[in-house]
Amino acid sequence: MRIAVFSSKPYDREFLGQANKQHNHELVFYEPRLNRDTYTLAAGFEGVCVFVHDELDAGVLIRLANQGTKLIALRSAGFNNVDLVAAEDLNLSVVRVPAYSPYAVAEHTVGLMLALNRRFHRAYNRVREGNFSLDGLLGFDLRGKTIGIIGTGKIGRVVMQILKGFDCNLLAYDPYPHPEAEALGTYVDLRQLFAESDIITLHCPLTPETYHIIDAQSMARMKEGVMLINTSRGALIDTNAAIEAIKDGQIGYLGLDVYEEEDDLFFEDLSNKVIKDDVFSRLLTFPNVLVTGHQAFFTENALQNIAETTLQNITEFAETGTCKNLVTSDRIKK
Ligand code: NAD
Repeated sequence: MRIAVFSSKPYDREFLGQANKQHNHELVFYEPRLNRDTYTLAAGFEGVCVFVHDELDAGVLIRLANQGTKLIALRSAGFNNVDLVAAEDLNLSVVRVPAYSPYAVAEHTVGLMLALNRRFHRAYNRVREGNFSLDGLLGFDLRGKTIGIIGTGKIGRVVMQILKGFDCNLLAYDPYPHPEAEALGTYVDLRQLFAESDIITLHCPLTPETYHIIDAQSMARMKEGVMLINTSRGALIDTNAAIEAIKDGQIGYLGLDVYEEEDDLFFEDLSNKVIKDDVFSRLLTFPNVLVTGHQAFFTENALQNIAETTLQNITEFAETGTCKNLVTSDRIKK
């Protein structure tokens, strides 16, 4: 198939190019994101291959369908950037990479917990300046702490496995409990998870139901000084409410790999530009906030798996007209 690959970075070209040796599709790489300004780049392509910041709203999907596109191949597990109902109405098939390395994201999640707790981000700078004072670097033992995991899918369960090794007590919330998670921890309702957890980590997808699942009300129910980690999707947390909760000490630590308005920031080098997002800039002023720019997935293993599954999805669709990794609109409710 002829595929227009949007949002492509050098590492996408490398890993997709390598995986395509087994498939021989015609891949044309475009650096821009797919949106209402760039969709014409896909004219004449049967498929588009996209990532998390490409904007596949109804307007873009209608234009793509009119240009002859049949397949949307996501290089991600999340699909909140695609209007799945519109895609179905237009007979556009959407495929994704359901699992590429839950370990990559889970390990990064635990990395954020450790860094925030033991203040690696501050210690790194201090030591380089010859300041070996320990003031302000006091941490706590993870052993025996209660960790609340919201979403016990593939990533949430690996987080639970890792934290079991630290001898933590694990509480979990998921509308669809999983036996593996049941063996590692205890399912409770959200209210109990908020009330009892020392650390809360988010591993559910972004859906209308989970939008701002962490807001002022839920933060008020948490333990004072709680650590909150989000490596899932930015809009799970009401960022303005989180800033207020950090200011009054209700949130003691915040670790983010994702941010509500990250589309205008992440994946680009903006070091010579003025950041105009005042909410994001405020976050960066806090000593107890650590932000990474949507890099949790970014391991060699994950990129290789993403590339191989994406090419396999395209081949399967080309040969059969469908794909086992098809995403349908009923998934939004899950
Ligand atoms: P998954 O589909 O295996 O698991 C998601 C889990 O969330 C499921 O068990 C589901 O039942 C549960 N869930 C659904 N609604 C819920 C709700 N209201 N409350 C609690 N749980 C709910 O997905 P996964 O592979 O574990 O990925 C989880 C999320 O991680 C993805 O949706 C994606 O947004 C994010 N992600 C981030 C990165 C990154 O680089 N930061 C990379 C990959 C995935």
